[in-house]
Parts: sequence; C-alpha cells; structure tokens
Amino acid sequence: METFSYVKAPNVEKALASADGAKFIAGGTTLVDLMKLYVETPKTLVDINLLPLDKIEKLPDGGLRIGAMVRNSDLAWSEEVKKSYPVLSEALLSGASPQLRNMATTGGNLLQRTRCMYFREPSAGTPGGYGCNKRTPGTGCAAVDGFNRMHAVLGTSDKCIATHPSDMCVAMAALEAVIHVEGPKGKRTIAFADFHKLPGETPHIENALEAGELITHVDLPKPVEGAKSTYLKLRDRASYEFALASAAVVARVEGGHIRYIRVAMGGVGTKPWRSREAEAALMGKPANEAAFKAAAQAALAKAKPQKDNAFKVELAKRCLVRSLKTATATA
Ligand code: SF4
Repeated sequence: METFSYVKAPNVEKALASADGAKFIAGGTTLVDLMKLYVETPKTLVDINLLPLDKIEKLPDGGLRIGAMVRNSDLAWSEEVKKSYPVLSEALLSGASPQLRNMATTGGNLLQRTRCMYFREPSAGTPGGYGCNKRTPGTGCAAVDGFNRMHAVLGTSDKCIATHPSDMCVAMAALEAVIHVEGPKGKRTIAFADFHKLPGETPHIENALEAGELITHVDLPKPVEGAKSTYLKLRDRASYEFALASAAVVARVEGGHIRYIRVAMGGVGTKPWRSREAEAALMGKPANEAAFKAAAQAALAKAKPQKDNAFKVELAKRCLVRSLKTATATA
C-alpha cells in the first residue's frame, strides 16, 4: 500500500471541500483491499463516517430514502425494507459475510469494483504485467484470452468483459432507484439505469459520478401495489461468494396475467443488468412457464459467451425462470 494522508470530514461541506484528488472512505470494504493491491493509490482519504447520512426514512410520496452511509446490514434488516422491498433485503443478505455487511455502506456498494482476477493483480496495466484496460487504458484485456469463467456475457466490449459484482445493485435496478449526489457544481439525481456505464471503449469509466461528487442518498419509489418480489442468486458455494447468475424480479399478476414486471440480472453483465427485453416479453402475458422461458430467451438473446463461461447463458435463463415462478406464485 502506498502512503496517503487522512482527513476526517465532520459534514458534507467539509467532505466536498477536501475531495480534490482524494477518495472518500466509509466502510472501506472494497477500497482498502484495492489499496493493498495497488489498484487504488489515492494521495488523500477523506473519512466520511461522521456524515449524517445514515438514516432510512419514508418519503411523503410513499417512497423510501436511504442514506449513503446506511450499512448493508441495517438496510437488509430494516422492517420497512423487509416488508415493502423484500427483493432488496434478500439481495443484500446474499452478499459478502455478516461482518462485511456490518461495515459496507449503501454508497460504497454502488461503487463496488469488479472481482476480475487480472484487474486485482498488483502489476496489471503496467509494463510486464497483465493487460487491463480498466486499470490502464490501452494495455489490453488479459481476460479475453485468459481464464474467464466468472466474466460477463452481456454488455461486454473487446476492451473489457468484467462482471459487475454487486447484489444490492441488481435489486435496485429492478426497483428503479434514483441516486442523489452532491459535488462542486451542486446537487443532482441520476436514474439507476444511467449510473453504471458499459465498458465500451472506456472501461476505466465505471459510473456517472463527476470529479469530487459524493453520493448522499438513494431513493426508492413507492412500492407497486399488489406486487411481489424476489432475488435468487446462484453461485459456487452457499455463502460469501459472488454470483454466477442472479435475478431480481418485481411482478404483479392479475387474473393470471402479468400486469407489472421489472427484471434485473447479476453475475452476467458488465453492469447491473436491467432486462427490458424480458419485461417486454412478459408484460400482459399469462404467468406461466412458457412465458417465463420466452422471457429468459429474450433476456439472454444478445449474450456473447467467452471460452470458459458459456454455461452462464443457460444458468442465467434457469435462474430467471425460477425467479419469475417465485415472484408470480399465487399461493
Ligand atoms: Fe481488465 Fe476488464 Fe480485462 Fe478484467 S476484463 S482484465 S478488468 S479490461
């Protein structure tokens, strides 16, 4: 780890004033690891643990405001989240370990970086190291010809095929969350679908945050009346493991037909993967296996598997079918 200076910010104003060229640190569950691996080498860390952004509050319009400093455990076990947004609680509890969830924050989870093993190699992106366009643009992508079993099949480019690792973000994509940020140019909101970026030609640009901006909170819209939701995660072992494929579904069925549907997938995309194709295939259709299989087919139609991860295409389809069955079950 390289040396750095450390500042503790007592409020948002002071945090923003200290942000120039610095990194914000909250739980540190990703950032500290990446500093030890020389992936992140900030000159200054601005500790934001004192900021008053740790509340979960009901909004007047029926939605829910989640402070960026709310710990993943507190969010997962919130009575309001368990009752009104169970998909979010389930997704959070499927991630990491209890100790990590106790430290990790909502804002930090939004900024999780990929677990691509080449990206996390200390020398990646340097002369003599693995090529990694995310670490150093123009150095190539070692994963394309390397071991890529865990990598993405949706949203990839020839510059990067890294999977987005978050479970929480998959649920938030299905819930159509809105991210609030504050920075040198003031406050603004970012729709969840616009927050994470596809790798394209610039895999080192991972999200819509501008220099010096701080995530302050995340708003969830009012729960959809009569809808049920679920999160299913398939992985190599039952806990403390990243998804091979996951699915978040929010659905309302009336008279046996699907009247509201939101679908997002994890473990397969370069960003939390909202599947509008699956939603279009399901809307208005009978809630039955044929429709679920057609939706899964549509969701993965543009999948581009690599040499080691073709199995993810079928796994993701089955994951989605099972999630749809659960979310639309009437009993
Ligand atoms: Fe780097 Fe992306 Fe390639 Fe991994 S997949 S080595 S993060 S460019």
